[in-house]
Amino acid sequence: MAKVFRCRDFGGACNWKCHAETREEILRKIAKHGVIKHNMKDMSESMKARIIATIRDVK
Ligand SMILES: [Zn+2]
Repeated sequence: MAKVFRCRDFGGACNWKCHAETREEILRKIAKHGVIKHNMKDMSESMKARIIATIRDVK
């Protein structure tokens, strides 16, 4: 099932969102966005868990 992630749902003042077919793919895109836009150095396990909780399935 396709996935969607909205940065705003994660608590940021950011309208970025992305879609991907798999969780691995969307996590890669989110990590890249985090580095570019939010100065995120790398994804810790707790950060990853929070991100995964924010990812939604596309109906
Ligand atoms: Zn963002």
